[in-house]
Amino acid sequence: MGKITAILGTQWGDEGKGKIIDVLSENYDIVARFQGGNNAGHTVIMGDQNFILHIVPTGILRKDTVCMLCNGVVIDPIFLSNEIKELMEMGIKFDGRFEISSKSHLVFTYHKLLDKFLEGKMLLGKKLKVGTTLRGIGPAYTDKIARKSINAAYLLNYDKLKEHFLYEVEYYNKLYNLDINLNNELDLLKSACKFLSPYISDTMINLNKAILDDKNILFEGAQGALLDIDHGTYPYVTSNNTTIGGVFTGSGISPKHLDNIIGVTKAYCTRVGRGPFPTQLKEDENKMRALGNEYGSTTGRERRCGWFDAVASKYSCMINGIEQLVITKLDVLDSYDEINICVAYKIDGEYINHMPLNIEDISKAIPVYEKLPGWNTKTSHIRNFYDLPKNAINYLNYISHLLNVELFAVSIGSDRSEIIFI
Ligand code: IMP
Ligand code: MG
Repeated sequence: MGKITAILGTQWGDEGKGKIIDVLSENYDIVARFQGGNNAGHTVIMGDQNFILHIVPTGILRKDTVCMLCNGVVIDPIFLSNEIKELMEMGIKFDGRFEISSKSHLVFTYHKLLDKFLEGKMLLGKKLKVGTTLRGIGPAYTDKIARKSINAAYLLNYDKLKEHFLYEVEYYNKLYNLDINLNNELDLLKSACKFLSPYISDTMINLNKAILDDKNILFEGAQGALLDIDHGTYPYVTSNNTTIGGVFTGSGISPKHLDNIIGVTKAYCTRVGRGPFPTQLKEDENKMRALGNEYGSTTGRERRCGWFDAVASKYSCMINGIEQLVITKLDVLDSYDEINICVAYKIDGEYINHMPLNIEDISKAIPVYEKLPGWNTKTSHIRNFYDLPKNAINYLNYISHLLNVELFAVSIGSDRSEIIFI
């Protein structure tokens, strides 16, 4: 029997999934993305080479692993072509090992322009600024749900794609009284069609065939549970399901095939973009940001930083049915005398230890901390769990206890080798 695994973020994205998927992909035949687009940014450091992958699955850095962009993904064809070309220049091969679902949907420049245009204008008479990545993700998924999107099958027929593309530009110009003209992009689109055509396939059929052939398949989540369109801190979320259900709708495999669900969480918390973040630091946020190098890998924005939020992560573990947890960037906490963990929220004077139902309450939540002693020792060189400082082991075990999940691995640095399996 092959092994089928999903790797999902339990916070607001940037949990370090890229590195974990890179390490684990060694044992998988296929790495598949099922949601999101090039709003993601997976940083992988291999020796002296530094890769930031935005849309291509992380498995591409392995020699033979087949990588798929499944139907739930949205794809900017010009961006994807460039990302592939850059990786090819670094010596990475795509022939016979890269597939794009014909049912995935395309992102065009007008989606990016709309993303920008709609920020600050959006909600029921109120101004809503989400702080998106401006990669056109929301408008592209909006078109998909509105049943008027151009899907990747059109990459095989440029003339038809062009016709619909120009129609859409006109549609949005009329709708919002805009003056978008993208005729100068048609040549680029034409070459993207030609370049990407060989990779278009039916990833759903191929995945189900691979399951019958006992292949090992890794589903690579992007973003995190708290950015999920249904279960996240709506409306400050991304426009698709980043949680477990997305694996199935976004790829076309049945839940009965999944063997394990691994959650990835950082040893502290970050959030990029707007929206509630109860444990965000008021003082010393810069220290944590500097230690963790917390700048968006897609937008370069400063990430907001704070202590580990067990209330939020427990909620994410519940929704996803997380069985095993990877805790990343433990080393970032190496120089703290004392470490806080948020174990409850205080909302309007009341203590609760679960995620509030509505955004107003989450926004009012005051974190209730438990203080744990730090370890004040470097950890990046350690390769055995029981060689970690006692206070670090206590901290990790306490998170595992609060979330009621088994620890699977701890990452103590950005290099592939800097990981401890438990
Ligand atoms: P969008 O996905 O660009 O529409 O952005 C919606 C929200 O999700 C914003 O708060 C973004 O900052 C956040 N977001 C989207 N992708 C990522 C990611 O890969 N990591 C962290 N935050 C993300
Ligand atoms: Mg990221």
